[in-house]
Amino acid sequence: MMNTAWAMAWMQALAASIEEQTDYLTQLDSAIGDADHGANMRRGFAAVLTALNGFSAETPGDLLIKVGGTLISSVGGASGPLYGSAFRAIGKALRQPSPSDEQLRTALADGLAAIQKLGAAVPGDKTMVDAYAPALAAFEEALKQGGTAAAATERAADAAEEGARATASLQARKGRASYLGPRSVGHQDPGATSTALMFRALAKATAA
Ligand code: ADP
Ligand code: MG
Ligand code: MG
Repeated sequence: MMNTAWAMAWMQALAASIEEQTDYLTQLDSAIGDADHGANMRRGFAAVLTALNGFSAETPGDLLIKVGGTLISSVGGASGPLYGSAFRAIGKALRQPSPSDEQLRTALADGLAAIQKLGAAVPGDKTMVDAYAPALAAFEEALKQGGTAAAATERAADAAEEGARATASLQARKGRASYLGPRSVGHQDPGATSTALMFRALAKATAA
């Protein structure tokens, strides 16, 4: 059931995997950026756990709106406002005690729209969109075929990981990596990689 405890489990799983992958995310960002993506995400999700400790949310949406605001105010890099606005948009669509699979679909679509509204990236620009867009498409396809939310989030996480891996062959057209032009080719995008962690954490929380 996708209730407030589910949203909390999602954020705890995400914070734990970011903690575990901090060095890897930083390593990816050192190749095509400024080597702070791991630190940015770690700081952001440490602040999220602090903010959620003792926060009483009536719906998963209230909790995720709080997450979004915390990321916006605690992360300096491009990723803070992008993830922050995504979680705020996801949260706004989940202000029911126990949202339906269809409401989760709408919420995830709203999250992607928020990222694209703020960052103006399209698929192929070598950003978090290249993990998020295929994840959303896989989620929608799985629901359409009658899959449960657990199965659909699993498919979404698989697609996000595949999308993140596929950013290696792309040339960056948005964000810091775009300054490198063709030299950005051959390196996996850090933000697409953390987006895959976000979907894997969602799948874990939804399967539980
Ligand atoms: P900064 O680039 O400010 O140091 P981070 O290193 O935390 O911020 O995040 C970098 C990631 O942000 C990139 O790998 C990319 O996935 C994502 N990103 C940057 N600009 C955009 C954008 N305009 N739209 C979507 N994602 C973006
Ligand atoms: Mg960076
Ligand atoms: Mg930076």
